Amino acid sequence: MHDIWNPWHGCKKCSEGCDNCYMYFLDAQRGKSGAEIYRTKAGFNYPLSRDKNGAYKIKSGEQIRVSMTSDFFLEEADEWRNDAWSIIRRRPDVVFFLLTKRPERVRECLPYDWGDGWENVFFNVTAENQRRADERVPILLSLPFKHKGVMCAPFIGAVSLRKYLPSGQIEQVICDGENYSGSRPLNYEWVKALRDECEEYGVTFAFVGTGRRFVKDGKTYSIESSELQSKQAYLSGLSLKGKPMEFKLCDRFGDPIPEGDLYVPYFGEKCQTCGMRIICNGCTRCGKCES
Ligand code: SF4
Repeated sequence: MHDIWNPWHGCKKCSEGCDNCYMYFLDAQRGKSGAEIYRTKAGFNYPLSRDKNGAYKIKSGEQIRVSMTSDFFLEEADEWRNDAWSIIRRRPDVVFFLLTKRPERVRECLPYDWGDGWENVFFNVTAENQRRADERVPILLSLPFKHKGVMCAPFIGAVSLRKYLPSGQIEQVICDGENYSGSRPLNYEWVKALRDECEEYGVTFAFVGTGRRFVKDGKTYSIESSELQSKQAYLSGLSLKGKPMEFKLCDRFGDPIPEGDLYVPYFGEKCQTCGMRIICNGCTRCGKCES
């Protein structure tokens, strides 16, 4: 399982969801500044890297999350993005999960041959509260992407997508609480209300974590371990699978990849009660669970 590709690192805070950015937090712990933006060296070509037998390390059918320590549409990354698009173009057999808080920049950042979108790109906007949902989701709906989703993380205020779900364009909604420093509380009622909207429209809803502060029935719970946050989200039973997402993946000649040749994720024992399971690419079998 190979699930993250960071072609560049570092970012500029642009909205309230960024206040406690985990990348800034982790960089500070290493004595670095998250505001330092740079193109990664060895990591930049990661989706094209091969094993000793010459096969791609990232297998056909895998889903890879892009720019998890930055924003793919960050202005400071404009000079590098075409190289990243070239890599995405060369792997039409892999799903690239893009997430941004800057959808207003996207149209001017698309590659020359984008047309009405590439089948292997799953485009998501962050909607941490209603204000940002109303700002970003209409732009999401106006952009030419084959696959679209919304990520409410950190989920710091109630969000309703009722105005947007009838478009039929949103295929998945993910929500997660806040972690690391200064975690703001996530309210169970917000999760339940959004989940019910998704159920009404047959949209996959993934409640992947409670965050550190979780409010239910007027009581605030402190849940420090991310593993426990994820397990509590699973135990809530709120996640649901909607209409299946169909990525028409193909090889470099444009031929469809037979079902049997696609990557099959492995899920171990701990995965069975993990909130991420519904959207996860599978377990790395690193063995840390056992130890
Ligand atoms: S956009 Fe994402 S990576 Fe950039 S500062 Fe905000 S939370 Fe951090």
